[in-house]
Amino acid sequence: MPATPAWPPASTPRLFVDTPLTSEAMATIDGAAAHYLLNVMRLKVGAPILLFDNRSGEWLANIAETGRRSLTLHVERQTRPIEQVPDLWLCFAPVKKARLDWIIEKATELGVARLQPVITERTIVERVKRERLEAQIIEACEQCGRTALPALSEPVKLAQLLADWPAGRALLFADEAGGAPFATVAAPAPAAILVGPEGGFTVRERELLVASPAVRRITLGPRILRAETAAIAATGLWMAQHGDWTSDA
Ligand code: SAM
Repeated sequence: MPATPAWPPASTPRLFVDTPLTSEAMATIDGAAAHYLLNVMRLKVGAPILLFDNRSGEWLANIAETGRRSLTLHVERQTRPIEQVPDLWLCFAPVKKARLDWIIEKATELGVARLQPVITERTIVERVKRERLEAQIIEACEQCGRTALPALSEPVKLAQLLADWPAGRALLFADEAGGAPFATVAAPAPAAILVGPEGGFTVRERELLVASPAVRRITLGPRILRAETAAIAATGLWMAQHGDWTSDA
């Protein structure tokens, strides 16, 4: 007896919609997402689409109507509640565009709860385009199956970040000048990782960091990693040690 194929099929497109989803609701999709569904995926009336709203979770919908540049979807049922990702923040000095996109995409896939751009003395890229980062976050969530978008904070100067640092949240300072091996530092949630700019931290910033009670200096090995490599390596290590990679999937 052939197995009943899974429904919706694994290839079902997933889309973020910024409106609350409920059963029997109708959702209109237009713009780039509509172009993607109509002209790239060539989907027709009746085709399934998975939607998530960053409020209630993920829902199965199907195409009720198609137009030249928009579609109307009928929301059928909830497929997953909104997830609770581990309470990890990634604090990073913004780097050049493509590599910044990479940090945002990978950190979202890995499961961080908050992305915090930090302006340091040697930060080259002071202005980050919020809409661009938000688009990266949404695309990564659509692709990796997340139902909750990581929060994206406004850029903040390092001194201000430390001055306003919340009590009880460990800050794992990735320091190329040396620190404790990751595995020896117990920093369960709520926690955060800090990665510097290409030029690294200044002596003054290092003193400020080391003086902060929440800070633990960690090493990511004997080689100088690019900022984006360090950000993703540290996030992966934390997820494996304290995050949601510790339980059988
Ligand atoms: N300009 C610095 C230098 O030449 O010494 C290197 C900065 S590195 C490209 C960018 C950031 O990645 C650093 O500020 C640090 O946060 C992190 N990083 C790079 N390699 C690391 C390592 N081996 N251990 C811990 N953090 C590292």
